[in-house]
Amino acid sequence: MRAAILRQGRLLVDSVPEPEPAAGEVLVGTRACGICGSDLHAAVHARDFAANSDGLFGLDPSRDVVMGHEFCAEILDHGPATTRRFAPGTLVCSVPWTRHAGQRENVGYSNVVPGGYGERMVLTEELLLPVPNGLSARAAALTEPMAVGVHAVAKARLTPDDVALVIGCGPVGLAVLSALRLAGVRPIVAADFSPARRRLAEALGADLVIDPGVHSPYESWRELAAVTASGSQVPVNPLSGEPELRPGVFFECVGVPGVLDQMMAGARHGCRVVVVGVCMQADTIHPMLAITRELNLQFVLAYTVDEFARTLRHIAEGELSVEPLITATVDIAEVPAAFTALGQPADHCKVMVEPGGVTGAFA
Ligand SMILES: [Zn+2]
Repeated sequence: MRAAILRQGRLLVDSVPEPEPAAGEVLVGTRACGICGSDLHAAVHARDFAANSDGLFGLDPSRDVVMGHEFCAEILDHGPATTRRFAPGTLVCSVPWTRHAGQRENVGYSNVVPGGYGERMVLTEELLLPVPNGLSARAAALTEPMAVGVHAVAKARLTPDDVALVIGCGPVGLAVLSALRLAGVRPIVAADFSPARRRLAEALGADLVIDPGVHSPYESWRELAAVTASGSQVPVNPLSGEPELRPGVFFECVGVPGVLDQMMAGARHGCRVVVVGVCMQADTIHPMLAITRELNLQFVLAYTVDEFARTLRHIAEGELSVEPLITATVDIAEVPAAFTALGQPADHCKVMVEPGGVTGAFA
């Protein structure tokens, strides 16, 4: 079958062996698969990626990998020891993990099973979720990245009075922003250098969207945190003479060295900083800043099976709007060109791969 393959650090399109469902697995046809920032990272930092992940991403970068973990697929056939509970043609989503021949494989980061940049995949039947409400494959494929936001917000230990700041409005930041809105957090400040991404943040319900090249997002956050939910000014501390700001919850959604330290410098006392962006390099922070302000740093990864299922339902019910995130759809043949284009901080948000679909977006 046709697939976009990561081979020796390069992405190319070639044919790979057909995947064969093992016991408990089904064969599916990929209908849509989002290109993820983690895949761009993995393509560049494959070795660090494998080395610093506790074996979670234990792939061998010297062997072929068909990436793609943000997928929606169609049932084609059933392997041995399956219940056949979904008829061929049923659209399904799944967490990108499968038990294949007695081994856990990360679909999209495996040398053994292919991910969604290939025409077909094998998935564990027990983990499949049927796509509800006639939702499109394209929208359903956004379950995975949106679940990352739902999980990050669940880990943020929100308080009713929080004022949120989202740094970075790529797919991760926008997923966090949407999940914050779903959780009823107001106000939300969002910041990104890209005008296109700022427009998306606005469309998804950020209360204040900042270009950090023009204005400090931390200053904007402080201005909003100085106003109570009912619109009055917060009280002033009699000792310091400073306003007693509402609690802060900051989300790092960039994953570039230096950002975490900047956010710690911009935070006020007791702020929770949730690190969602994946920084692959060593990074420097000033712990004394965190000590003085009693900051909480929470690092998060992925989602639970339950959060994933909940996210698909929220999308199908129209409670999480995802269609605006898709800025291009491409055929498998165009995945390498799309990776090159996404490598530059761009106006693109989520690029969707649809086997047999349109071509030309990155030609
Ligand atoms: Zn992803």
